[in-house]
Amino acid sequence: MEKETSMESITLEAYGKINLSLDVLGKRIDGYHDIETIMQSIDLKDKVVLRDSEEGITIECNNPQVPTDSTNLVYKAYRILRDMYSIKRGVHIKIQKNIPVAAGLAGGSTNAAATLIGLNELWGLKLSKEKLMNIGVKIGADVPFCIMGGTALAKGIGEELISLKDFSGHLVLLANIGIEVSTAHVYSSLKIDNIANRPNMDKLLLGIDKNDLNIISENMVNVLEEVTIGEHGQIQDIKNEMLEFGALGSLMSGSGPTVFGFFDNEEDLLKCKKSLEKKVKTLIITKTI
Ligand code: ATP
Repeated sequence: MEKETSMESITLEAYGKINLSLDVLGKRIDGYHDIETIMQSIDLKDKVVLRDSEEGITIECNNPQVPTDSTNLVYKAYRILRDMYSIKRGVHIKIQKNIPVAAGLAGGSTNAAATLIGLNELWGLKLSKEKLMNIGVKIGADVPFCIMGGTALAKGIGEELISLKDFSGHLVLLANIGIEVSTAHVYSSLKIDNIANRPNMDKLLLGIDKNDLNIISENMVNVLEEVTIGEHGQIQDIKNEMLEFGALGSLMSGSGPTVFGFFDNEEDLLKCKKSLEKKVKTLIITKTI
């Protein structure tokens, strides 16, 4: 998370993520699921500008798909921090959305993470990163990772994080078919007892440790694909096409529908992008960071 500060306004860069693997271990009594996933920040970012105001919160966003009311995760971030520290000031939050919405790329969570970091500064709270991460999990399971960034193994509901070795600089093609997928729907539709193919975490961790894109690509598995691909077969077609065009590996991120492909060669990536342009709404070239 990078930031730029002036007296009463702060500009933050809020990065998205992909999941290099995602396993669902079981359902908890509180309704959430225990998962095991490797989260990876990507160089695709929203801009979040926080401006001090007299009172309350106002939100604006250049993407009409994003709510500007109390359901926006930045609203929740503001309210939680304001109430915890009895803050009397308000804020205007402007989100420049570049991350596709409801896409499995943590677009909302990363905006909430940026808001917590920004308000901590704007209000002079001096809270540690760890403290902000503990507050963040109350907003959403992916928020602590978005505060931390980089590469991490996430357990629990996604909030128990172990930082992993740097895996930056790998070329990624993102393909988003433009439908919104509800994370809650995908998890509730998953039949945990019938999961046939689960990721091998030891191999994936070895791949990260050796910074070996081949090992990672060969072992990427997301158990949520079964549900989302079952409902949107186009996701499987995109995965297949990425592999045909030379991707080392291709996977759906989070609960989807975004598919990413790892390429070790820009020429293959560009050819693949050109071919997918005929049928896919949004194609983005990025890299791991
Ligand atoms: P994750 O990978 O964390 O599950 P996602 O990328 O699948 O996230 P989001 O982009 O966070 O999904 O959006 C999910 C829903 O959250 C959207 O349908 C939208 O209505 C709502 N939402 C609330 N706040 C935001 C925000 N700041 N940016 C985008 N969507 C938001």
